[in-house]
Amino acid sequence: MEFKVSELEREPADFDLQLDPGAVDLGGEGEQVGPLATSGRAEVIHEHRGPREIVADIRLKGSFSGKFEVPCARCVEPVEVPLAAAFDLIFRPLGVDGGASDRSISAPETEIGYYQEDSLALEDVLREQVLLSLPVRTLCKEDCKGLCPRCGANRNNQPCTCEAGQSDPRWEALAGLRSQIKS
Ligand SMILES: [Zn+2]
Ligand SMILES: [Zn+2]
Repeated sequence: MEFKVSELEREPADFDLQLDPGAVDLGGEGEQVGPLATSGRAEVIHEHRGPREIVADIRLKGSFSGKFEVPCARCVEPVEVPLAAAFDLIFRPLGVDGGASDRSISAPETEIGYYQEDSLALEDVLREQVLLSLPVRTLCKEDCKGLCPRCGANRNNQPCTCEAGQSDPRWEALAGLRSQIKS
């Protein structure tokens, strides 16, 4: 869904949507596996920067909830992560803060995003918000055994036979050398 500044100038847009699985593309970070519910309001806010300069910002306020899958930090198996969050964001026209001198990086400034060519895509905003609310580190289970660093087997599913030689540091060195040669 796109919000057009010219349309928002006439009246704010309320939205209440169910986005299909995959509508929000998280790249390699994870996947949207269920429908994503989102609702809120987009409106234009005029920033008066001087007697003649008025900047049309888009304020987007709302919330989302949905199911995502992210890889386990140890064994890279997909882990289901339900997420829900609220947002209240300001988007300025791209380029309006162009001068390096007036770009002050105070805390509230970091909340400001930019829109291009008169429109803002809701999906882009949601992608950013989902990525921000993802946990830093997700494990499939508290005691996930992870992958064997030597053969790559998932140790949750199969006991690894590499385990035996692990105590001998000479084998460690040799294994390290071998992986260097391979790469
Ligand atoms: Zn795991
Ligand atoms: Zn192994």
